[in-house]
Amino acid sequence: MSKRNTALAIPEPRTVALRERDYPTIAPGYALVEVAIAPVCIEHQVYKEHRFEWHSDAEHQGHEGVGTVVETLPGSKFKEGDRVIMYQGNPCQECFVCRRQLSPTHCLSIPYEQLRDSQDPDTVLDALGGGTAINAPGGLMAIQNACGSASGGFGFEQYRISNDYMLQRIPDDLPFRYAALANCSLGCTYTALEETEINTGDWVVVAGVGFIGFGSIINAKYRGANVIVLGRNPFRMEMARRMGADHIINPDDEDWLEQVHALTGDLKGADLVIEASGYPYYQKRALQAVRRFGTMWMYGFLVGSEEPYPLRMLDDLHNRGVKLTGSHDVFLSHREGLVKMLGHPDVQAAADLLITHEYNMSQGAEAFEAALSKKAGKVYLYPQEDCPNPGQSETTARLAEQYGS
Ligand SMILES: [Zn+2]
Ligand SMILES: [Zn+2]
Repeated sequence: MSKRNTALAIPEPRTVALRERDYPTIAPGYALVEVAIAPVCIEHQVYKEHRFEWHSDAEHQGHEGVGTVVETLPGSKFKEGDRVIMYQGNPCQECFVCRRQLSPTHCLSIPYEQLRDSQDPDTVLDALGGGTAINAPGGLMAIQNACGSASGGFGFEQYRISNDYMLQRIPDDLPFRYAALANCSLGCTYTALEETEINTGDWVVVAGVGFIGFGSIINAKYRGANVIVLGRNPFRMEMARRMGADHIINPDDEDWLEQVHALTGDLKGADLVIEASGYPYYQKRALQAVRRFGTMWMYGFLVGSEEPYPLRMLDDLHNRGVKLTGSHDVFLSHREGLVKMLGHPDVQAAADLLITHEYNMSQGAEAFEAALSKKAGKVYLYPQEDCPNPGQSETTARLAEQYGS
């Protein structure tokens, strides 16, 4: 019997299905990987609301992962048996973004500027002159198209194709469960802290804490920074404390900003504020918490939201010299430092808190429900159906019971 590939689909809201597809085929420049862990990023929101980003649809989900190379073609830099992190996307490797080793998810081949709203697939379709959004260059379907493959472009699959440029070999002694955080939790946040040169004694505020916020805390503590968390959920705040957050401030307190100023002393605000929620409530406070000439880095966004960004140009930005920025992913030049960090025992101890739930891919619905609960950090799927201990971790269960509301 010929080999098949299995993928997870979200055909309707709050419904998942496993699809059997033809085994992937690869082209030069691509490798085939047996996926060990496929972390959940925002797919639980897709499961709930059935809204799609430009690069995905109901049948094609997931973009994070780690695994073992099982097939390459002559000339590949990789070989069978290599353990790898898979970064997302299919960059051109030639534009200035790629040449300068910035984040390949911002490669110029992705026509962001032509898209009025990258969260609205219909708009994208017009912008590409009739081409469907999911087939846009630089996206995950572009990988399948380049390889003429019927499967393998996406994260929630047993076998996944990756552009060689988006693979990183990992050391033998780095377990997959820690390497899998190199995508959208410890990875993208590593880039914010590296780019803003956060160091020992600097002040970092993390506003709105989910798995991106937790990732920011772990990165900031790894660098010896002082961490203030703005948050309210008791379970998440306890998790943040255990990951090393030095101060927790309730943003509902009338004097929350005075509390930030009292802690940061002469600076009167944080060197870096990471906004990880996408909600105007936190965006507004994040802007106020940043010091003059400090940086506010935004990871959060609300899919389908029309709400304007709460920014007063003169008072929030010009008068204070604040830098506002955001990005999706790990800069290529940061990969080496990131993997070194993932091997650190303190980071791994915090990661064991951050990884709250693990499931086989066939238990996708349970995984998404867990991610939707307010008692989750990072949630993993095991596409090979070999999850060591499906469900929530013991610590998560204990903290959820003690601090769950
Ligand atoms: Zn992600
Ligand atoms: Zn490029």
